[in-house]
Amino acid sequence: MVSQIIIIGGGFGGLAAANELRTNLPSDVKITIVDKKDYFMMDLVKLWIIKGTRKFETSKRPLNTIVKKGIDFVNEQVASIDTNQKKVKTTTKEFSYDYLIVAAGVELAPEKIPGLSANGMILYDLEHASKIRQKILDMKSGKIAFAITGMPYKCPPAPFEAALIINSMLQETGTRKNISIDFYSLGPITLPAAGPEVSKQLLDILESENIKFHGSCKTISVEKNLLKFEDKSIANFDLLIAIPPHKAPQVIYDAGLAQEGTFISVKRDCKTQFDNVYAVGDVTNMMVTDKIAVPKAGIFAEGQGVAVAQDIISQIRKEKTNSIFEGKGGCFVEMGTTAGYVYVDMFAEPNPITRLDKPAPEHMEEKEQFEKERIEKWL
Ligand SMILES: Cc1cc2nc3c(=O)[nH]c(=O)nc-3n(C[C@H](O)[C@H](O)[C@H](O)COP(=O)(O)OP(=O)(O)OC[C@H]3O[C@@H](n4cnc5c(N)ncnc54)[C@H](O)[C@@H]3O)c2cc1C
Repeated sequence: MVSQIIIIGGGFGGLAAANELRTNLPSDVKITIVDKKDYFMMDLVKLWIIKGTRKFETSKRPLNTIVKKGIDFVNEQVASIDTNQKKVKTTTKEFSYDYLIVAAGVELAPEKIPGLSANGMILYDLEHASKIRQKILDMKSGKIAFAITGMPYKCPPAPFEAALIINSMLQETGTRKNISIDFYSLGPITLPAAGPEVSKQLLDILESENIKFHGSCKTISVEKNLLKFEDKSIANFDLLIAIPPHKAPQVIYDAGLAQEGTFISVKRDCKTQFDNVYAVGDVTNMMVTDKIAVPKAGIFAEGQGVAVAQDIISQIRKEKTNSIFEGKGGCFVEMGTTAGYVYVDMFAEPNPITRLDKPAPEHMEEKEQFEKERIEKWL
């Protein structure tokens, strides 16, 4: 009899899976989320903190409210995973599992680029969001550089959204004409996973706002006011806003779920090589073609979490199981007061379908709804 399902991570993937499981399984099946954080806040709020429309304190939601739904919550770091004994150890506790869902997301690894932490702001770092805002408001003239220094990274459009939001902040403060914005990316085009057409549409939007995109720039180090690239070219800046390389949490490598520096390789069923161990969301690498992987986005982590939950539910009910990740969804591209929307159908035949819907105020409202609906449903 199945008695315990453990979920590592109370983010998009973990919360979606836990809710789907709880709605469909009897109460004698225990469902437990383990997270080192005691709150949930969507990463997209970080952009609103930069914009000044949100604060961290009023945007985070306590994770322990899931207890009222019959989902257990353990606020501790997972220190080890034993896939032979089917056990997970946290700082002070040990749990046996019948099924394990690894939804641990990614960690930022700025240390992989020498000089980055000392000389630049990290866009995805929560503590840097309000500092970036203040720097933008204080800046009177000079050069802003954005740099994508590692791939894959979370939410491919997010750095471009940040550039467009900051562009509109500078327009409001009247300083934009004295400040240049340059964008240096490791990728050859703006959104490689969305393909050349969508990338060109985004490029046109950036150019119309006088944001210069420079592709195939591999940052090898950062010095004071200076980016250095592999091809020996350099770029000066007064303010650097960087997206650092990403890595999986250490416990994933220690458990043998992925090789150091990589992510957990899964197919559309999200099964790992270990018995009854699934992996979903940013911590995974799910290839679509030999070159393109499913982007690291909350909407996909959610879809994978639900697919895995349905597979486990069918197994427990002894029904036929063939639940796989559908691969459809999209991300908003916020530009200040309006937003565009990148729609993706990753596994469409014969090729993935991608589309960028034109910027419109409605998409901005939909983005706010996207957050609200999920918080209401999950917590
Ligand atoms: C600025 C920005 C904007 C974005 N905008 C969008 C958007 O508009 N739409 C969209 O779909 N996506 C967006 N994303 C991407 C989205 O936030 C991520 O893809 C999503 O959070 C991934 O979900 P996940 O469940 O895989 O991981 P996460 O949501 O990161 O959750 C992982 C959880 O695991 C926990 N954890 C990790 N290791 C351990 C451990 N050892 N022990 C215990 N707990 C652990 C963490 O504390 C965390 O709570 C954005 C990202 C950024 C940075």
